[in-house]
Formats: sequence, C-alpha cells, structure tokens
Amino acid sequence: MNTKDHLLKFGIKPSVQRMAVMEYLVENPVHPTADMIFNHLSPSIPTLSKTTVYNTLKLLEEQGAIQTISIDEKNVRYDADISLHAHFKCKKCGRIVDIHSGDLNPQTVPDNDKLKITGCQVYYKGYCEECQK
Ligand SMILES: [Zn+2]
Ligand SMILES: [Zn+2]
Repeated sequence: MNTKDHLLKFGIKPSVQRMAVMEYLVENPVHPTADMIFNHLSPSIPTLSKTTVYNTLKLLEEQGAIQTISIDEKNVRYDADISLHAHFKCKKCGRIVDIHSGDLNPQTVPDNDKLKITGCQVYYKGYCEECQK
C-alpha cells in the first residue's frame, strides 16, 4: 500500500508533509523523536517547520496511524508499527528495539469485561547485544 492510501485509510488528508512524516516512520523503524524526524526531512522539504512535524505526529496518533512510546524519559518516541508489541531500551546506547514475542494480549487482563482496552505498553530495559561486548 502506498503512503497516500495508507493515510486515507486512517481518515487523514494526505498532504506532502504528512506523507513525508509517515513515510519516514515506516522506513525508519527506530522509534525516532520529533526532532529526528524534523532534522531528517527539513533539507528536502524547506517549508517544513517543527510545529508542522509536531502537529502531523499528533494527528497521525489521534487517527490511529502511529503510536507513541514513552520508554524514553526525555522524548516521546513515534512508531509506525501499531501492532501490539513490547519495546526494549538499551541503557548504554539508547537504542529502542521491538520485541514481538510474548503474551501481550489485553484479553488476558483480569476483570477486563468492564474495560474497553485499546492497547498496552510493555517496556524492557537492559543492554543490547552490541553493548554487552
Ligand atoms: Zn546498546
Ligand atoms: Zn515498536
């Protein structure tokens, strides 16, 4: 699916800026910060402002096209992978990686018949393979 159709699927009007932000997130699954996204895109889109990046990310999240991750104390991280998955943050190099295994099914939460659970966030911390050497 192309980025335009992807945004339309989530009810988002596909502007050049919005498509660029969405595309960057899909192609760079490193859970970037808003600053990282802005710094990467601004050379090719000179009209792009930081405010536009923030507003776009907010819109994408509100419409359910991306999810935010609060594993990093200093910065909100953005993830184009909206499936239920856990995250691991390396305490040394700071990289954030996806963990797709494990039981993250909200259906297994006790007493959840009164709650409508739409997601959950699971974080692990430690040292990545590279940093253990
Ligand atoms: Zn590391
Ligand atoms: Zn992720």
